[in-house]
Amino acid sequence: MARFAMVIDTRRCVGCMDCVVACKTENSVPEGFNRDWITTAVKGKMPDLHMEIRTERCNHCSNPPCVHCCPTGASHVHDIGGVVLVTHNECIGCKACVASCPYDARFIHPDGYADKCTFCIHRTEKGELPACVSVCPTHCMHFGDLDNPESEVSKLLNSRNYHVNHPAAGTEPHVYYLT
Ligand code: SF4
Ligand code: SF4
Ligand code: SF4
Repeated sequence: MARFAMVIDTRRCVGCMDCVVACKTENSVPEGFNRDWITTAVKGKMPDLHMEIRTERCNHCSNPPCVHCCPTGASHVHDIGGVVLVTHNECIGCKACVASCPYDARFIHPDGYADKCTFCIHRTEKGELPACVSVCPTHCMHFGDLDNPESEVSKLLNSRNYHVNHPAAGTEPHVYYLT
């Protein structure tokens, strides 16, 4: 078993958007839509303020409302890495999952199915890195197996402070931001 996760060092991200471009290209994401994106947030207290730049995407939650609400079972948890996926030909485009996601990570593809980040499962199930991680020029993105205590992602979470987005939503997200 494996539990895939992404660990992102916000101190090293420069907001270059190479990860966004790589994802669009790798996954043929249609014009006007994105599977990953950049947000900024001002952190700290006056006068000690800094800007956190975050690359965001589906969090591949362990308690995913998008899966629980799907009427057809198209949205599901994959048996590799706990990745949340959509079976395109079982999706009826009802948008229940889009509305349920606290991260606004999903959209309806022009071909009629719900779409979002897949943690590049076509690459990661073969042991390769997601496209976004592979191109990041500052190497601030890390991907691996949280069930392996020797993995880079496990070691980073054991040695650094971090946060997740919207923890109060109770979705148990698996994209972590080192601070
Ligand atoms: Fe940040 Fe890396 Fe994405 Fe550039 S490629 S915006 S440095 S995460
Ligand atoms: Fe579902 Fe949204 Fe969690 Fe992704 S981030 S698994 S789309 S609830
Ligand atoms: Fe896009 Fe793949 Fe990165 Fe997800 S893991 S944001 S699908 S490139």
